[in-house]
Amino acid sequence: MASLDLSSMFVDVLDSETNLHGRERLLIVEDDPATRQVLAHALRHAGHAVDIAGHGREALDFVEAALAQRQPYALVLIDLQLGDITGLDVLRHVRRSCPHTQTMIVTGHADVGSAVEALRQGAQEYLLKPYRMEQLTVIVAKLLDARREALHNEALLADARRRVNELAILNHVGQMVTRSLDLDKVLRLVLEQIRDALQVESCSIALIEDQRLVFKVALGPAAEQVKAFTLSPGQGLMGHCVAENRPILVNHVHKDARHYREIDDETCYDSRSILCMPMTTTQDKVIGAIEVINRLDNQGFGQSDLDLLRAITVSASVAVENALLHERLAQRATELKAALDELQELDRLKSEFVQNISHELRTPLTFIKGYVELVQSQMLGELNEEQSQSLALVADQAEVLTRMVNDIILMQEYQMDCGQIRVMSLWDVLSQVVDEYRSAGLGHRVLLEGAERQAGDCVIQGHPEYLAKVLRNLVDNGLKFDPNHGPVNLALRKVEGGWEIQVSDQGIGIPESEWENIFERFYQVDGSSTRQYGGTGLGLAVAKEIIEAHGGHVWVQSQQGRGSTFGVFLPEEPIEDWCQLEKERVEREQ
Ligand code: ADP
Repeated sequence: MASLDLSSMFVDVLDSETNLHGRERLLIVEDDPATRQVLAHALRHAGHAVDIAGHGREALDFVEAALAQRQPYALVLIDLQLGDITGLDVLRHVRRSCPHTQTMIVTGHADVGSAVEALRQGAQEYLLKPYRMEQLTVIVAKLLDARREALHNEALLADARRRVNELAILNHVGQMVTRSLDLDKVLRLVLEQIRDALQVESCSIALIEDQRLVFKVALGPAAEQVKAFTLSPGQGLMGHCVAENRPILVNHVHKDARHYREIDDETCYDSRSILCMPMTTTQDKVIGAIEVINRLDNQGFGQSDLDLLRAITVSASVAVENALLHERLAQRATELKAALDELQELDRLKSEFVQNISHELRTPLTFIKGYVELVQSQMLGELNEEQSQSLALVADQAEVLTRMVNDIILMQEYQMDCGQIRVMSLWDVLSQVVDEYRSAGLGHRVLLEGAERQAGDCVIQGHPEYLAKVLRNLVDNGLKFDPNHGPVNLALRKVEGGWEIQVSDQGIGIPESEWENIFERFYQVDGSSTRQYGGTGLGLAVAKEIIEAHGGHVWVQSQQGRGSTFGVFLPEEPIEDWCQLEKERVEREQ
């Protein structure tokens, strides 16, 4: 299998030169056979690997060959007097092509001037012949030490530069990806950053959707075709990376059985090196993977590529997770909006249906009431006692039915008739309504507090007919929802900014959770078909609308089993432009 041991992968010139545990290679450039043999012997004895060149040109060949093997010499010892080219020529060549190679001139007294010149041209040391061997080995050791130190510092500097660069990239990625919650945009931004940071030919991001890896975005020569593929977890290197939740790095892809060749075949693309990184949520759930293919410099991927991709993937995953979340929320919101629209439409249809039926009921009701009256008048013949009583019952129920139908129709067609708005006494309206109940034989149940009040006290601007209707609806409820036939009390009092009417009963009461709902159209606490009390669920909705059109509000307080109090607040300030207000209300409703 071609996947690599990552710890041993990052190999380049610098690394091989700094390989302090391996033997450093030395080159002796000396035309005198006896001298170079002695020298080589001494240096090998000191533990070094030594090559020997007898001429200047041969030395240049050695230097080039070592470079090609990525194993440049640690030290070159050069005699100035060579047969073909001079030692200075060799020195210049070494200085030019191998900056990390130490050079040392070994020469006789006659050449002191040239030795000084060699130092000027960059040789690190020189040694005059004849010399003692320990003297030579001490200088060689010193030069090799200095080289090691220089290489070490250079490696540190390169590492620091790489880290600064990575931090800059990560910072940039972080800033870019948090700018948007649009998933496609985030994915594209992330991928562009990865391509530029890792200098790769192709790259892609696939996310898991319905148990499959779907390529969401791809860059590179085969980008468009790649997006047509999907993988199952465990299929291809990317699928393995997702299934195992760990990065995968393969530098000889064609030798790896896990590689899914079909994509390359189909797109005529040659994947040589692949690096895959899983994307995970903050809860470590795998949501997809990022894959980069072929470095632009044609080198294999190394540890530093893997580290960088891992770091970018961490911030990218957070951004993608947020974008996914946002996408799901947006989708949920759309679904909820659709559900709400549907419910509102159903509600509208229900109201329309009920109202249409009510319209249709009006005509037969008029006939029923007309004929009942006719029969009651005995114009069609005399009635006995029993018949009269039965007819009176029919007339009563027809009246109840008429009121219901009128309520329903009022909700549909209700509009304040602005011409009816006038300065009026609330007390007058209250007394009028109470009188009606008295006339209907319910005087003992409908009671008005403070009967001695003067009508002139409580004057407002309003619609007396509609306000009377509000009071009737509240009183009717008070009477209806009390199986013990208790009293309903009406009271009027001055409050800050206006007047408040309270209608209290001692009936069944209303649970607090329903206080808001009961003012909705057609809402009844007990809406079942077997309910004990009749009604349409419109009385309170009508009351609320009328009072709000007066600039006031309604409220309720109740205790189950003990009774309820409904309150109506009406402002004393005249409403400046009734008709405008009413127009706005009607527009709101449409
Ligand atoms: P309806 O009385 O025709 O059902 P309303 O809009 O007048 O319609 O009232 C809505 C619901 O509020 C009633 O069905 C009832 O459940 C509750 N409710 C209203 N007034 C009272 C009250 N005084 N006591 C108890 N429940 C009441």
